[in-house]
Amino acid sequence: MSKSIVLQVAVPIPFRKLYDYLPNNNRAKSDYKIGARVNIPFGKSEKIGMIINITDHSTYPIEKLKPINELLDSSPIFEKEHLTWLKWISQYYHHPIGETIFTALPALLRKSEATASAIETHWRATELGKTINLDSLNRAKKQQQLLILLREQTDWISNKSANEQLSNWRPAAKALMEKNLVEQSQRIPNIKLATQTIIKAPELNEEQQEATNEVTHKIDHFSVFLLDGITGSGKTEVYFSCIEQVIKKNEQVLLLIPEIGLTPQLLKRFSQRFNCTISVLHSALNDSERYQIWKNAQNGQLQILIGTRSSIFTPFLNLGLIIIDEEHDLSFKQQDGLKYSARDVAITRAQKVNIPVILGSATPCLESLSNVKKGAYHHLKLRQRAGNAIAPRIDTIDLKGKELVNNFSSDLLKLIKQTLAKDEQVILFLNRRGFAPTMLCHECAWSAQCTRCDTYMTIHKKKHRLICHHCGSEKRIPQQCPSCSSIDLRPIGFGTERTEQALQDAFPDTEIIRIDRDTTSRKNAMRQLLEKIENNRSQILLGTQMLAKGHDFPNVTLVGILDADQGLFGTDMRSNERMAQLITQVAGRAGRGEKRGLVIIQTHHPDHPLLQTLINKGYGAFADNALRERQEAQLPPFSYTAMFRSEAPYADQNIRFLQEIKQICQSLNSNQSIELLGPIPSSMERKAGKYRAQLLLSSHSRKDLHHLLSGTLQQTETLKSAKRVRWSIDVDPQDMS
Ligand code: ADP
Ligand code: ZN
Ligand code: ZN
Repeated sequence: MSKSIVLQVAVPIPFRKLYDYLPNNNRAKSDYKIGARVNIPFGKSEKIGMIINITDHSTYPIEKLKPINELLDSSPIFEKEHLTWLKWISQYYHHPIGETIFTALPALLRKSEATASAIETHWRATELGKTINLDSLNRAKKQQQLLILLREQTDWISNKSANEQLSNWRPAAKALMEKNLVEQSQRIPNIKLATQTIIKAPELNEEQQEATNEVTHKIDHFSVFLLDGITGSGKTEVYFSCIEQVIKKNEQVLLLIPEIGLTPQLLKRFSQRFNCTISVLHSALNDSERYQIWKNAQNGQLQILIGTRSSIFTPFLNLGLIIIDEEHDLSFKQQDGLKYSARDVAITRAQKVNIPVILGSATPCLESLSNVKKGAYHHLKLRQRAGNAIAPRIDTIDLKGKELVNNFSSDLLKLIKQTLAKDEQVILFLNRRGFAPTMLCHECAWSAQCTRCDTYMTIHKKKHRLICHHCGSEKRIPQQCPSCSSIDLRPIGFGTERTEQALQDAFPDTEIIRIDRDTTSRKNAMRQLLEKIENNRSQILLGTQMLAKGHDFPNVTLVGILDADQGLFGTDMRSNERMAQLITQVAGRAGRGEKRGLVIIQTHHPDHPLLQTLINKGYGAFADNALRERQEAQLPPFSYTAMFRSEAPYADQNIRFLQEIKQICQSLNSNQSIELLGPIPSSMERKAGKYRAQLLLSSHSRKDLHHLLSGTLQQTETLKSAKRVRWSIDVDPQDMS
């Protein structure tokens, strides 16, 4: 008997190793390929895994290894290069290899299904079927109906869509196929083919042209470009002209956008500019549609893919360019499971396949700006607004000692009135959804707290509910104080729902549009709301940070930031950066057209250095200052961090576990290059009924930090205290609270 091969399989479980299996005897050795999935016996059940390596030996006695149940793919799901990149991700984020690979797979492939069956069968009429006299099928009504249906289509239709239009059609399809009147195909349809008339690009201004030239000059090589341009400066046009170059070479483009950054406007602009296959991976797609897009990218049928964070894992036949729009956006960092940054892994991916990356933003993150200063990224600046638009004027309204009507100063109300009188539009920004952030009893000071979290519950008046925004707990709004039975229960503070009502009272003849997670949860709701603004049917747009992204409203000339104070004194070192980004992004919504815009910031702290710098010198100056402060304090990006987090039913279980981790770290920290901070309770210690704590590691040497993490993690899996908690490791954490 010839020596057996050993399959090293990555399994999606929280252990940092591969599992050895034997092939089963039904297949030739050569059928097993690295990157193919297998169904394996695992404990008492079975699991899907992926072959990562094929060898002829094992650390276990070969005769004790189990054979796999079934080989699921005849060709690899991931090419070697792609797998190498995924392995790097697993190492960098210190996340188990199996879970990493399965995060990168579309949902459909995480299940047992073979890839072939994942692709839906499609149908169309043959040439004969299109021309035959339908009367010849008078005695086979179902066949006749199906053929009529197929003849009405210009393209293939899927099983699913046939099901929707005709019941019990399959026997008819079979009969028609035997008569050569219809044909079937396992082909993957293109989800979206640009069909609109192509609009010619505007002539680029000098800065845009220069930026484009720099990128296209290096279009065949790895380079990172930070396209740093104020809102409205025409970054999207620069993307377009770079994309054009890539499409011309018959290569593919991946555009990553923030979670709520996909606007109908952006899509329309794409389809008007490119006469090629464009797909969008968005949350409304089902698993099969997602897989089909994935497959199209992999086999080269798809030329442009637009998608959020996880699209970065899509395999491409011939990727030529990655663009990350709004690169500073937090949604590019995954907060659970594999805690990757799509922006950062995009850069290593581009490096591996030797292509350029463009990071675009009006408010680049400090990490990227620091990389520019180090010379690692090329800085492309767009300083002027494109076309005829002029940058808005920014001013503050000092709220100190002023009487407020429902959170509005009389000055702001007056400005709103004037703007409406000119038939122009207003955007008001308040980053807090719901009616009011909490409810208070005026008799006894009882307040509505979440029983599962260390936080207050938000009043949602229309729903008659108190809702915790951290764990989702809900209850009815009480009629009486649960503590003293008083009926004098009052809302404290303002959310968007309450502000909308206040605005409606102040401007009864104006339609007010509110955009937040509550008003846009229904499918298409966002689009319908935005259309009202675009068509000028509504004049006041009120919303949370969902408004800050990408939308282009030329008739908006006044932007009001209702409460800037929330973000000025945050505890997280990044809260200033976020606030500056948010204010700048919201301000950028004003004056996108030819009329000059005005941005008004309501605050009790008009002299706060952050506001002063932003108003007088702009985001770039703010970022320079912030980077200087970070350097002095040796905070990221001037040091590297990782965070152990732990949650458990009792607080001391976390502390015990994290103390043990700390001791392991200390024993491995021979040259003292790692600083250990904690363990401490998280800033909201109890969330969804669990206590939470954290241990922060920081170092000047990324290498030392990662070396220590590897060593520590090897010992962690066997710790007894680890079994009582749910723990995770977050490399380059964005949220340090
Ligand atoms: P950004 O992405 O930087 O916010 P956009 O690319 O959306 O900017 O451009 C803002 C507006 O200016 C858009 O309406 C766009 O069509 C227009 N625009 C961009 N570049 C030019 C140009 N070179 N000439 C005329 N209009 C332009
Ligand atoms: Zn009370
Ligand atoms: Zn809660």
